[in-house]
Amino acid sequence: MTVTASDAPAIAHFRFFEMEVLRTRRLGHSFLRVTFGGESLAGFRSGGYDQSLSLFLPPPDREHTVLPSTDEDTWFGAWRAMPDGERPVMRSYTVREQRRTPEGGEEVDIDFVLHGDSSPASFWAGRAVTGRRIMAIGPAVAENKSVRFQPPAATDALFMYADETALPAAAAILDRLPAGARVRAWFEVPHADDRLALSTPADADITWVVREGGAGRERTEHLLDVVRAAELPAAKAPYVWLAGEAGTIRAVRRHFVQERSVDRRAVRFTGYWRLGASEEELLAEAYAGKAPSEDPGSAL
Ligand SMILES: Cc1cc2nc3c(=O)[nH]c(=O)nc-3n(C[C@H](O)[C@H](O)[C@H](O)COP(=O)(O)OP(=O)(O)OC[C@H]3O[C@@H](n4cnc5c(N)ncnc54)[C@H](O)[C@@H]3O)c2cc1C
Repeated sequence: MTVTASDAPAIAHFRFFEMEVLRTRRLGHSFLRVTFGGESLAGFRSGGYDQSLSLFLPPPDREHTVLPSTDEDTWFGAWRAMPDGERPVMRSYTVREQRRTPEGGEEVDIDFVLHGDSSPASFWAGRAVTGRRIMAIGPAVAENKSVRFQPPAATDALFMYADETALPAAAAILDRLPAGARVRAWFEVPHADDRLALSTPADADITWVVREGGAGRERTEHLLDVVRAAELPAAKAPYVWLAGEAGTIRAVRRHFVQERSVDRRAVRFTGYWRLGASEEELLAEAYAGKAPSEDPGSAL
């Protein structure tokens, strides 16, 4: 019998890590990079691309995250049973980069979008200072199911759309593409100075769409106009990767499948958040079986 990766127990793929803030750096109007370290990261194994992790962030009046259990069988129940006001919030983020330091330690960058103080993760990131400790469930192996970017070997063109929350993932994908890979990408950001400098060995044609204050569904219409107007390179086996606000992602996916005749199986789409819904509300829907998503980590 052949043993495949999916036969391995889930715990081999993910683990709890304690992550300590080492430093922060503003990357653009909306982006704050938080660099984490700590001894616990010795077992952290990021494979790059759009690999994500779950962060547990402390309530506003606490400095560090405390979880009653990090045991694989009991942590979830123990976390859910914590009183409101003490329970850390769980949020999905992307491993933008993992590095080994000259001293042999590990560093992990996470790029947070700062979108206001009334949202727990954005609030926490805006106040992150050196020495603060949070908990995370992150990759213990380079390839686990939190890497959603899985283009087939025959792919001859990659079409990408990301909003600001998925720009860290898109940037990490671009980092690792082979030289000369053909990419047509649209990246949508709130402000002109969120157009971050991206480096890639790929042959990438990137269009930035700056929202400049537009909110709600009209933002999707403008984005669709821009994507519709684009002439795409001819491709026999295109792969489409879409991530961002759930309503926009649904509309862009429909565009590629219905108007560009891309095989729906070649479209990987993930809602990273949904207008008007916190991550708790999205998780509650997923548990109740209401979210029509292909992906448990998705806001679609
Ligand atoms: C796999 C995955 C990877 C992700 N990677 C990243 C990442 O690297 N960086 C990153 O910044 N985000 C990332 N996200 C998105 C992030 O998890 C959500 O934006 C999350 O809702 C932020 O939590 P919060 O506590 O700030 O807001 P919540 O409490 O979850 O939401 C409160 C309110 O804010 C709104 N909201 C949420 N996010 C935004 C936003 N960006 N702009 C405007 N309104 C918003 C919600 O609709 C809701 O009305 C990722 C999501 C997934 C699923």
